[in-house]
Amino acid sequence: MAHHSTGFTRRAFLEGAIVLPALAAAVTGVAAADASKAPQAQMHYQTSPNGNMHCAICKFFIPGKDASSNGTCQIVDGSISPNGYCMAYTPKSS
Ligand code: SF4
Repeated sequence: MAHHSTGFTRRAFLEGAIVLPALAAAVTGVAAADASKAPQAQMHYQTSPNGNMHCAICKFFIPGKDASSNGTCQIVDGSISPNGYCMAYTPKSS
């Protein structure tokens, strides 16, 4: 198996070109807590409010066990403070 014909190599390359993106996606999924959400840094998430804008009144916030506990967010990955803020902030009422 040390010597491949050109034909075999070319076919293997073409198959690899199809398989590799799927493999990359699988690896990314393992590395991130939730690959469907945006990383906190990318969304400029901060653990403090921006004026009166904060996660507890954002429509994407999913509350924790009580009002002062961290919850999660529909679009930003990881643990989210009710007093946090990010660039995707959208008031619940809008
Ligand atoms: S979108 Fe941003 S501001 Fe809104 S809950 Fe998620 S992290 Fe907080």
